[in-house]
Amino acid sequence: MSQKKRSKETICIQGGWKPANGEARVLPIYQSTTFKYDDSDKMGRLFDLEDQGYFYTRLANPTSDAVAAKICELEGGVAAMLTSSGQAANFYAVLNICSQGDHIISSATIYGGSSNLFTVTMEKMGIECTLVDPDLPEEELAKAFRPNTKAVFAETIANPALVVLDIEKFARLAHSHGVPLIVDNTFATPINCRPFEWGADIVTHSTTKYMDGHATSVGGCIVDSGNFDWEAHKEKFPGLTTPDESYHGIIYTQKFGKQAYITKATAQLMRDLGSIPSPMNAFLLNIGLETLHLRMPRHCENALKVAEYLQSREDVAWVKYPGLKGDKYYELAQKYMPDGTCGVISFGLKGGREAAVNFMDRLKLAAIVTHVADARTSVLHPASHTHRQLSDQQLVEAGVDPSMIRFSVGIENADDIIEDIRQALE
Ligand SMILES: *Cc1c(COP(=O)(O)O)cnc(C)c1O
Repeated sequence: MSQKKRSKETICIQGGWKPANGEARVLPIYQSTTFKYDDSDKMGRLFDLEDQGYFYTRLANPTSDAVAAKICELEGGVAAMLTSSGQAANFYAVLNICSQGDHIISSATIYGGSSNLFTVTMEKMGIECTLVDPDLPEEELAKAFRPNTKAVFAETIANPALVVLDIEKFARLAHSHGVPLIVDNTFATPINCRPFEWGADIVTHSTTKYMDGHATSVGGCIVDSGNFDWEAHKEKFPGLTTPDESYHGIIYTQKFGKQAYITKATAQLMRDLGSIPSPMNAFLLNIGLETLHLRMPRHCENALKVAEYLQSREDVAWVKYPGLKGDKYYELAQKYMPDGTCGVISFGLKGGREAAVNFMDRLKLAAIVTHVADARTSVLHPASHTHRQLSDQQLVEAGVDPSMIRFSVGIENADDIIEDIRQALE
């Protein structure tokens, strides 16, 4: 079994935690800040990164590590770390290889929180970001690169735009400019797409969404494929390829090889910035992961039924769902995620903004919440909620149709979800 790659279903259940003889079958919650040693020399070696072991939960914790290992195996990576949120994961994934004076390129159709992070907060830190239309041809996209560009960022399926990324195109572009491609794989999850198989170098997640799946815990994860050759582009990535004076002159690429990127993120960023998940939250995330392979197909199956129903109605103006034949991203979705995309769809009513609000207020099964991608069907009207400070004119400029309803299809009975939509529309 150890030679052959395990299947996703088995990894969801058995990945990560490997109990020794007589140990707990279920991943224990190591709710401890600290770990005990008999001699001080051993502890010193841990601090020097000379030995492996736990000493303080901000740097590493057995519960969190086991869950990171499970996600790592699901994605087919070599190393992973958990973070306190998806925001922290994307921040660290970029900050780990960028510093003041550097530049990144990001798809413009990304989660609002990520675009704020890149274009406002990181900009203040001296890291610039160029947003690009991901559908542009390669020659056009290439123009965004600068000598100080250090990474390219995009989402497998964009939240909430539902744009499917041409991962191979983005990987080619990034690699021909000597930088890694970072892909936020939150919406597809490794059950539906493994970006490393298409050339991505680093994968991030908001585990808050499908991975947790029950809306209990905010969390994030960064996974490294181990494929990007930092040494081949030494001058671009001095943080990985030159001595770290805060660690006695360690050179991460030389000492840790394929583990260099994640080791640096843990030893340096987590040490200094500290956005760790609590062991309890990691435990809850692990319970969610155990059924990810069962939930994702159901989310997709239900979402397709709902999308087809909406499309059949006279009062619905438009429906966006990459799993729907005729959708702008259907072909890309078929290529990168033939088994299904995600459970989130968006649509507009012919009655516009007012009809959207009335519709949502009449829903009984679907709840109005600022969350997507969990077991319960939920709904959000960006013009009234996440983007409510904008006028209709500004909404259009921001690419948010004032009539747009974001509908996150859960894993209840599809007929019940459709019946709820029908009664609310009528
Ligand atoms: C929600 C989300 C994030 C942010 O994650 P949090 O866990 O809320 O911090 C990042 N990327 C995507 C695609 C998301 O959907």
